[in-house]
Amino acid sequence: MPISGKIIPMPKLYLETVGCQMNVLDSELVVGSLRRHGYELTETTDDADVIFFNTCSVRQHAEDKIYSALGRLRNHKNKFPDAIIGVLGCMAQKDQDLIKKRAPHVDIICGTGQLAQLPTLIKDARDTGALQIALSLDRTESRHEVERSFESYDPMRDPSMRPNRFQAYVRIMIGCDKFCTYCIVPSVRGPEQSRHPEQIAAEVRQLADEGVKEITLLGQTVNSYHHGSSRLSDLLARIHDTAGIERIKFITNFPKDMTDDLLQAVRDLPKVCPYLHVPAQSGCNEILKRMKRMYTVEFYRDMLSRCREIVPDVAISSDFIVGFCGETEESFAKTCDLVGEAKFKNSFIFKYSPRPGTRGHELYDDDVPEEVKKRRNNDLLAIQNAASLQDHRRYIGQRVEVLVEGPSKNAWKLDANGPLQLTGRTRTDHIVVFDGNPRLAGQTMEIDIDDATSFTLYGKVVTGEQIAVGECCEMPVEIGERIALPLIG
Ligand code: SF4
Repeated sequence: MPISGKIIPMPKLYLETVGCQMNVLDSELVVGSLRRHGYELTETTDDADVIFFNTCSVRQHAEDKIYSALGRLRNHKNKFPDAIIGVLGCMAQKDQDLIKKRAPHVDIICGTGQLAQLPTLIKDARDTGALQIALSLDRTESRHEVERSFESYDPMRDPSMRPNRFQAYVRIMIGCDKFCTYCIVPSVRGPEQSRHPEQIAAEVRQLADEGVKEITLLGQTVNSYHHGSSRLSDLLARIHDTAGIERIKFITNFPKDMTDDLLQAVRDLPKVCPYLHVPAQSGCNEILKRMKRMYTVEFYRDMLSRCREIVPDVAISSDFIVGFCGETEESFAKTCDLVGEAKFKNSFIFKYSPRPGTRGHELYDDDVPEEVKKRRNNDLLAIQNAASLQDHRRYIGQRVEVLVEGPSKNAWKLDANGPLQLTGRTRTDHIVVFDGNPRLAGQTMEIDIDDATSFTLYGKVVTGEQIAVGECCEMPVEIGERIALPLIG
């Protein structure tokens, strides 16, 4: 803004996000809040006035990555002492002393529940030159304070941080009370708290007004949602008729809380997508018991049957941890059996990484060697990939409905004269790649599937649809033309 003939540059924010969808949403809120204080985003730390890392503590690797980045910034801080460096989120919550020791040049340590305080923390760090710490959200904090952390910054979310303007996350819960023995989340995200349905409905309406068509409800165990007598099935019914919203998804589910009323809601509410992510973690009862997952593999198998019986054509995905403490070849073979028979759309497979502060770390030896974990990871991945290919191939010859997200990540590698590759997702969360006009982003299209790999379906826009959509584009883009849209897919 010109003042006395001089242009005062806007302060710049660099924000790097590691971890789950919750962190992606938190970062959206942080950027929204700081934009209101005049900040603009920058893509490098070089010219940033404020450098934030929104961190994850679920795996050691994620933490190592942040400490390396902080180490690299030591010289930067010497050169630019006014630059403010902050560690946000789960690592901040868990390891304030370690951060102080390993990265004394950090100015702000801010937990997941205090992100709304960041503008004040930046100012105080600048004014005093002292380390600012905001970490009051823990398991002893009162319900009221935890609930306030929803209200404090959700209205400030920034659409520019979303992967695209048609899809958005909506937090419906925070925290977790399950205490699986490998997991740090209950310690860093606090007790399970469900958000008031009225607040959620208002946020969904606001997002719809901004042009969002697909919302994904987020919770660590989203199907445990309950606020008073309102359960997730009631919440889905309540937001279902929001004008403008076409698709509703929810992640991540806990197997024990997959109730029939929820499955019936998925079946009966047309906007609710028939896609369920339900982590199993292991196919062996001894390991499930050590993990304190509170179900057996028999229960999990029954739950899968119930999902498929009540919701025809539902797609189910899962998570697995290989190499958990005490996992023998025999127990791993049971996990392979489950993955081989369960017909998951896909599975996310992780090597166990011990987390100080968890019961698993206290109780058990991390007794599976790293090379064994690696081999099991690859073996399980191979089984899942074969299952995914089988799942994907059954779509060949079928017509599917796709919400177009934008150019695929390979679009730019193609011959400049070739057609542009777009990507989108079906209601069952399958990724579909097809040629088309980038201005189709945000449209719902019908695609005829003619090929498949373990990860992707390939197809063609149904003739007639393309013409109709082309007609509604104010500036149709010729095949082969490249325009600047974010890369997605
Ligand atoms: S359910 Fe278990 S794995 Fe999931 S967040 Fe809670 S403690 Fe962690």
